[in-house]
Amino acid sequence: METRRALAALGAMLMMASPHFAGQGKTDARKPDTIQKQSFGKTAAGEEIELYSLSNKGGMGASVTNFGATLVTLKVPDKNGKSADVVLGYDDLDGYVNDKAYFGATVGRYANRIAGGKFSLGSHTCSLPQNNGNNTLHGGLTGFNKHVWKAREVNSAKGAAVEFSYLSKDGEEGYPGNLSVTVVYTLTNKNELKIDYSATTDKKTVVNLTNHTYFNLAGQGNGDILKHELMINADTFTPVDSGLIPTGELKKVEGTPFDFRKATAIGARVDANDEQIKLGGGYDHNFVLNRKAATGLSLAARVSDPASGRTMEVWTTEPGVQFYTGNFLDGSFKGKGGGAYQKRTAFCLETQHFPDSPNHPSFPTTLLKPGEKYHTATVYKFEAK
Ligand code: BGC
Repeated sequence: METRRALAALGAMLMMASPHFAGQGKTDARKPDTIQKQSFGKTAAGEEIELYSLSNKGGMGASVTNFGATLVTLKVPDKNGKSADVVLGYDDLDGYVNDKAYFGATVGRYANRIAGGKFSLGSHTCSLPQNNGNNTLHGGLTGFNKHVWKAREVNSAKGAAVEFSYLSKDGEEGYPGNLSVTVVYTLTNKNELKIDYSATTDKKTVVNLTNHTYFNLAGQGNGDILKHELMINADTFTPVDSGLIPTGELKKVEGTPFDFRKATAIGARVDANDEQIKLGGGYDHNFVLNRKAATGLSLAARVSDPASGRTMEVWTTEPGVQFYTGNFLDGSFKGKGGGAYQKRTAFCLETQHFPDSPNHPSFPTTLLKPGEKYHTATVYKFEAK
């Protein structure tokens, strides 16, 4: 009995001495993950913005802010154990306030495009602000990425987690219904960043939430992503018109530059003489994911950077993923450390329902009714070899 008590005391002392507990004050001895909270400044309206830094046992670190429920940094070790921040972004709050590229952003109420900024819900036509030619992109003029969210640290068995919540009011950006949204970021001890999205509404509405992180597995600011090898688990994609609105067709990737069923360098066909590539200015298309089952997490994509050895897998409950090669980055965005982000220095894999689904009854529905619960999840899993 005495020996058992002494061993337990020794165990507790060793755990408290571990670097994972450093600076935590009172900790739950079952949870060796840390969250550190610091100020990220104030908005012009005087709202306090925080930066939450999460770390795990595998040497990864992620920081997220309640401004836009945004992912700010993601530190991942390479094959030699050397860590780099693999996501594009800014050093300070101002960068995110003025951002137009959606770096690290939570996108909503409807990620991607809605044609003509119009769709019908029963007999009612909803009109949205058109902020991308005639279309509505990424939630409109002031999307979810520009709002201040409430934050709460969550005691998750899987790892350090922060929950952000936001109430999008009835009529905001033209969308009907008070939509209550939560986004939870969890950094697990299996080197995964998991994002859980939930929402409920009090009127029929449409919802399509995603995260718009721009990745560069060599480290942000470290050249282009053209040599990264990409696999996308999709037999078809949704071709688009000149406004990047899906035509409605599900086109086979076979024999096109969109065939990523076997890992291929992103740069191999990014400038191919192909109508869809020309319309996108590179890749800017939704892929229809091959899913084993209708629900649950399913492998969407795998990307690896041969030089650093970093590999990222994307697993999702969603039916689609927008693969975007940073075609519109033109050096005008001054990012972390003052560096200018040039064209194709990052890629996005935005898990989602298909663009313009409210106007395509044949696409999986994005309708959310009162009493229903929206929940989707996406996991970014890292390894280095
Ligand atoms: C869109 C691109 C757009 C980018 C930034 C992507 O999801 O498909 O066309 O330029 O987001 O807004």
